[in-house]
Amino acid sequence: MIDALIIGGGFSGLAAGIRLAHFDLKVCLIESHPVPGGLNTFYPYKGYLFESGLHAVTNFPSPKNTKTPFWKLLRQLRLTADDFALRPQKKSRICFPGACLEFTNDFPFFITQVEQTFPEERDRFLSFISYLNGFDEYDFSTPYLSTRYVLSSFIHEPLLIEMLLCPVMYYGSAQENDLDFKDFALLFKSIFFEGLGRPEGGIKSIIDLLVNRFTECGGELRLNTTVNALEHDGHQIMRAHIQNGEPIESRHVFSSAGLWETMRLTGQETPHEKTGRISFMESISIFNTPLQGKDTSILFYNDHPSFAYKQPEGLTDPSSGVVCFPDHFHYETPLDSFTVKITHLANYSIWRALSTSEYSFEKEKTFRSACHHVSRYLPDLDFSRNMAFSDIFTPLTIEKFTHHMNGSVYGSPVKKREGKTAFDNLYLCGTDQGLVGIVGSMLSGITMANQHVLSKINS
Ligand SMILES: Cc1cc2nc3c(=O)[nH]c(=O)nc-3n(C[C@H](O)[C@H](O)[C@H](O)COP(=O)(O)OP(=O)(O)OC[C@H]3O[C@@H](n4cnc5c(N)ncnc54)[C@H](O)[C@@H]3O)c2cc1C
Repeated sequence: MIDALIIGGGFSGLAAGIRLAHFDLKVCLIESHPVPGGLNTFYPYKGYLFESGLHAVTNFPSPKNTKTPFWKLLRQLRLTADDFALRPQKKSRICFPGACLEFTNDFPFFITQVEQTFPEERDRFLSFISYLNGFDEYDFSTPYLSTRYVLSSFIHEPLLIEMLLCPVMYYGSAQENDLDFKDFALLFKSIFFEGLGRPEGGIKSIIDLLVNRFTECGGELRLNTTVNALEHDGHQIMRAHIQNGEPIESRHVFSSAGLWETMRLTGQETPHEKTGRISFMESISIFNTPLQGKDTSILFYNDHPSFAYKQPEGLTDPSSGVVCFPDHFHYETPLDSFTVKITHLANYSIWRALSTSEYSFEKEKTFRSACHHVSRYLPDLDFSRNMAFSDIFTPLTIEKFTHHMNGSVYGSPVKKREGKTAFDNLYLCGTDQGLVGIVGSMLSGITMANQHVLSKINS
């Protein structure tokens, strides 16, 4: 019998594992892929190291404020900011028809941008920021509050509301077209108050760091292994069955597989309407020569005055998107390859229904259309010249990497903030506990380990 079994070697599972292993508990982490990291991982392809997922790490750790979530995370994992070697963004942009707002990791600069672009909204925007400053997004007892409702009670200009929603929704909303204000507050603070960065050594350096810390503390990592079922007596999980038929008995089970995906392992049916509908298509293109417009780190764009964050009716919806330039961060050693990532909303069911040959054909076609579309916002970027390789992800890739039903990026819109399930010793961590992104998912793993196990053995 072990103390804790963790399902999933994404960022939440690794963080939960480290936290538990620090206290000499016997922990086994099971990950179905050969490389940990979940959605944010890496793979070699044609001589290059491709990174799936990662655009930027949110919650950039400023030494001026060590009370922020990233510093909490470092203390809990007994790591330092130097271990993560995050480098700040240069400048990001939110572009809608007739207006463009820029932001850096210096929040007052963003306030100036809003003041200049929407002068009549200045005081109302500042009142909103002051409300946001006083809002406790970690108080899970606060009932659901529509973000659109809150924003429109402060801000009168609809275009500004849509522009504020666009990056926040793209970087973490499981709900279509609106989100709980707690989630908005958390994401807004992570992206705009604290800012964006990328690790000097890429995502691999962070994954290696976490894996080493976990195994050094005595944690057991089993890769290429899938948990197929969780056997229970109606109250407790008795044992997990892994793909080779081996049973594993554990006092506690943490699952980062997702709410309904975890319930499916216990034999429960999944209510189809409760699974997430938000999925993405993402292309990663590597160029031989440096790219133009070197000061843009990330571009969020939308072709229309209002932003439709919902499952598209076709394969993808290029009318809004995110374009990330991983090279355009303040690295100490400049990168030697030049990458562009483009993310669009995508429809899982339509991709799923394609035959193998249609799938390949549509991937190429939608990629070409995505490049053509974003060129309008980035006229200096010539996709037809010097592109060495590209790789394209669809909702089926996200499903493969995360096991999430519908390839839903941010899991179910139903979140379980306390991480509790119908079983006393089975807890959720990661996306469906309600914290997303790399930093959010690590905090989720830490919080759930503390709350459900460590607080009990330490009291
Ligand atoms: C295209 C894209 C871009 C993104 N960009 C960013 C970004 O720039 N910055 C950022 O902070 N976040 C980003 N995210 C979000 C971020 O990737 C996720 O929020 C985060 O990875 C979630 O971590 P997790 O541990 O909860 O889950 P996951 O990463 O989904 O990890 C869960 C793991 O569990 C494993 N698993 C599931 N079921 C089983 C089973 N039965 N047995 C064994 N293993 C199992 C899966 O293989 C997976 O490895 C992006 C996501 C996408 C899709």
